[in-house]
Amino acid sequence: MELAALQQLMADTYGAQDRERGVAATIAWLTEELGELAQAVRKGTPEEQLHELGDVLAWLASLAEQLGLSLEDAVARYANGCPKCGQIPCACG
Ligand SMILES: [Zn+2]
Repeated sequence: MELAALQQLMADTYGAQDRERGVAATIAWLTEELGELAQAVRKGTPEEQLHELGDVLAWLASLAEQLGLSLEDAVARYANGCPKCGQIPCACG
């Protein structure tokens, strides 16, 4: 799934309730899910890690949507390699 499609799907699915909760609550949820991802990486199964990666992405998409920003625009600066050195792989080392 493309990032723009993911963001739109999350907006269609959860947009109304997420907007009602607001950005501060979304940041709180995103942070909580990031903590769950960290725990799954440390001691979870690949299935649990996959689950938490999805949750983090979903909340990140919700945050971008509420800020009126696009995840695709956000990652565009990585499209041509490392934003600092312009190399793939990064040569900043
Ligand atoms: Zn670099």
